[in-house]
Amino acid sequence: MVAEIILNSSVKKLNRTFDYKIPENLNIKIGSRVFVPFGNKKTPEEGIVIGIKEKSEYKVKEILNVQNSEIKEEYINLAKWMAKRYICNLSDCLKLMLPPGTTSKNTENRVKDKTINFIYLARDKDEIEDDIENGNVKSEKQRNILDFIIRNEPATMQDIEIFTDGTRSIVNTLVKNGYLEISEEKVERNPFIHKVENKTTDLKLTDEQQIAIEKIKENGEYLLYGVTGSGKTEIYLQLIEKKLKEDKSSIMLVPEISLTPQTVDRFIARFGEEQIAVLHSKLSIGERYDQWNKIKEGKAKIIIGARSAIFAPAVNLGLIIIDEEHDESYQSEMSPRYDAKEVAEYLAKENNIPLILGSATPDMKSYYKAKNGKIELLTLTKRANNSNLPAVKVVDLRQELANGNKSMLSDSLKEEIEKNLITKTQTILFLNRRGFSTFIMCRDCGYTVKCKRCNITMTYHKNENKLKCHYCGYEEPVVTTCPECHSKNIKYFGAGTQRLEDEVHNLFQEATTIRMDVDTVSKKNSHEEILDKFRNENIDILIGTQMVVKGHHFPNVTLVGVIAADSSLNFGDYRANERTFQTLTQVAGRAGRGEYEGRVIIQTYNPDNYAIEYSKVQDYDLFYNTEIELRKQLKYPPFCDIIVIDMSAKNLYELKKLAKDLHTYLKQRVINEKFGLLLYSPVPSPIDKIKDRYRWRMLIKCIYDERVNNLLSDAFEEFLKMNTKTARVNIEINPNNML
Ligand code: ADP
Ligand code: ZN
Ligand code: ZN
Repeated sequence: MVAEIILNSSVKKLNRTFDYKIPENLNIKIGSRVFVPFGNKKTPEEGIVIGIKEKSEYKVKEILNVQNSEIKEEYINLAKWMAKRYICNLSDCLKLMLPPGTTSKNTENRVKDKTINFIYLARDKDEIEDDIENGNVKSEKQRNILDFIIRNEPATMQDIEIFTDGTRSIVNTLVKNGYLEISEEKVERNPFIHKVENKTTDLKLTDEQQIAIEKIKENGEYLLYGVTGSGKTEIYLQLIEKKLKEDKSSIMLVPEISLTPQTVDRFIARFGEEQIAVLHSKLSIGERYDQWNKIKEGKAKIIIGARSAIFAPAVNLGLIIIDEEHDESYQSEMSPRYDAKEVAEYLAKENNIPLILGSATPDMKSYYKAKNGKIELLTLTKRANNSNLPAVKVVDLRQELANGNKSMLSDSLKEEIEKNLITKTQTILFLNRRGFSTFIMCRDCGYTVKCKRCNITMTYHKNENKLKCHYCGYEEPVVTTCPECHSKNIKYFGAGTQRLEDEVHNLFQEATTIRMDVDTVSKKNSHEEILDKFRNENIDILIGTQMVVKGHHFPNVTLVGVIAADSSLNFGDYRANERTFQTLTQVAGRAGRGEYEGRVIIQTYNPDNYAIEYSKVQDYDLFYNTEIELRKQLKYPPFCDIIVIDMSAKNLYELKKLAKDLHTYLKQRVINEKFGLLLYSPVPSPIDKIKDRYRWRMLIKCIYDERVNNLLSDAFEEFLKMNTKTARVNIEINPNNML
């Protein structure tokens, strides 16, 4: 028999299978991880068997060896599906399905099981006790150790050192004399830092929760749309419990940033630590490896993790949940550029199990599907514990300026902070700092320059002092006078948590503050440390970016201030309004979760913008109805897909030629074969040079079906044949970030 093997390599030219003969003595099946000789390389290459056939048309070499870790055939098929859909290397997709830390070229560097020496009694307990009584064990230290092990078998060397006055050499003597034996055993690196004591049981569901849960059948896709605090998590808990009773596993994805001990604790409190595995990037590679094995061995039936946990080798998968389904982190920005939601859909269909998408502010695409009956809509309209949604006030920053207030804090916000300092309740100040783009805006009327063709805020490019549209490449010189109101009060908007903190200190010298942004959050657990400190030490004011938004629960926070809602309205993406509404609604949801009523102040130069107006009343439906009409008119998703063909090279001439050739190829086929799609001309990318590589791109608006998929695959093949020196091409399907 002959195996078709994918080499564990990301070299594009090797993105094909190689045939190898299967030796009689090796047990090899689809998914086996093998070592094979390749070319004139001295060391064997690693590969994965993705097909088996009778014979090969080539003269083939033999497989050398097989490892005892394999990928299930189901996941080989998933990898093939992904490689096709996302037009990327199969080996890159397969890597996602391997145990963490086991893909290193150098097998010596791979993560291995962690082992500890356990010390056992080598003889029967009674015999040893007799020996001690009869005075056969002379040294007191030896007797103490034996005594300890008799009561605490098995013990580690560390236990012995702590609880007796024994040493390693005394233990060795006891081993030599036949009293003790040492056994090297696998132990789990445990990422759960602390124990959860209080066990919880099912809450009695509210009527709304009850109706929602009853609608969920044995399969199908559901959108659980429920306001913040409406009890979505309780529904997840009870669904998972039901699956556990059927001996089935559940995968729950949460955004990376909200995968805090707080979230995990709720699950541990209900189900206990034993059955739960967590997977996220803050774990050490060894911890991840052990969690993966815990899942694969079927010990952990509840898998909680960030995006890539969707590939966890769940045994008997029965349910997939994606919480905060609108979150951008579910889409990978590195190759393979997959969307975990789409992968979840694939897995749910293959396994014939339910997929639950949950959010208070659903992705426009999901809500559109639900409205059109493609997936089932489950709605929770009320907070489960009957607390009120906070009162939101919008402050017009143009007016502030007219009144002579040039600081980052409006008079109303200052007053409210003052009140909180007196009552010793906490405040969160949120500075939206999406992307790295800067834009310019008139401070008198709120006008920003938009591309006339795309209706997208133009991005300011400092080096060239120009405004550019990130979609079509249209450029304009920087304006110094507002075309609307002729004011000269034009301002550049960028970052500034540090500046905000300084301002707060100047205004409120007695206030304690803590800052959370990319600069202060870096090392393991640090994000959590900042939040714990804020909560436990009752710090007056937390100043933060995006990171403060997600799912945290602070009972003592009664005031949330949004410094400038506009920065997310103007980040150069068709989803700007959607993201603004989501962010404002989520951040407002942080206030007043305890017994006190919450207040939210949103500062903006665009109080009339509908995303801001509707977030004031926290009405997603109102927002959706307006936004969907615009999307329809401008032909943006969900009415089409946007494909970005991202090209780069070290040499600008090489890149331009590639862009032109690829465009010509596509254009000809689109015309000849009558594709109903919109192909844009290649333009320099928004950030047109990164790390010495020039970048251009080409956009396509279309319905991404199999025909378009094939067209793009062909175009990619064309590129591989083009004999370029340094060029790279990436194809992105509905990318999150248009920069
Ligand atoms: P969400 O996930 O929608 O934000 P949660 O599940 O976190 O909502 O619920 C919010 C709060 O309401 C939690 O404190 C939770 O314990 C409580 N809660 C949820 N469901 C119920 C219920 N059926 N009865 C009483 N309290 C509930
Ligand atoms: Zn103006
Ligand atoms: Zn444009």
